[in-house]
Amino acid sequence: MRNVTFTCPECAKYNQLKEIMVNAICISDIFDISIRDGVAGCSFGEPSIDDGTVDHYECGYCGYTLKIESVVVNNPEKLALWFEEIRKKGKKEEETA
Ligand SMILES: [Zn+2]
Repeated sequence: MRNVTFTCPECAKYNQLKEIMVNAICISDIFDISIRDGVAGCSFGEPSIDDGTVDHYECGYCGYTLKIESVVVNNPEKLALWFEEIRKKGKKEEETA
């Protein structure tokens, strides 16, 4: 296994990638359901996002939307390879510049 770094082409921050889901359902744990002195309340756990279809990816820092081929969306394996390709392309451009 090797790690692949996503570097934002807009702000150059790395590993700030977010996926934005289509029709996402956000699920949180609910605990401590109670009625105290006539007031009902409950507390929530961390939100987690269930399986879903990715709409797009964007930089979590600046909001830049990745211009990505649709075959790569929703396919983490292809996404990793795509990042590597972009990184290699970037290096080639630096070498020839
Ligand atoms: Zn960015």
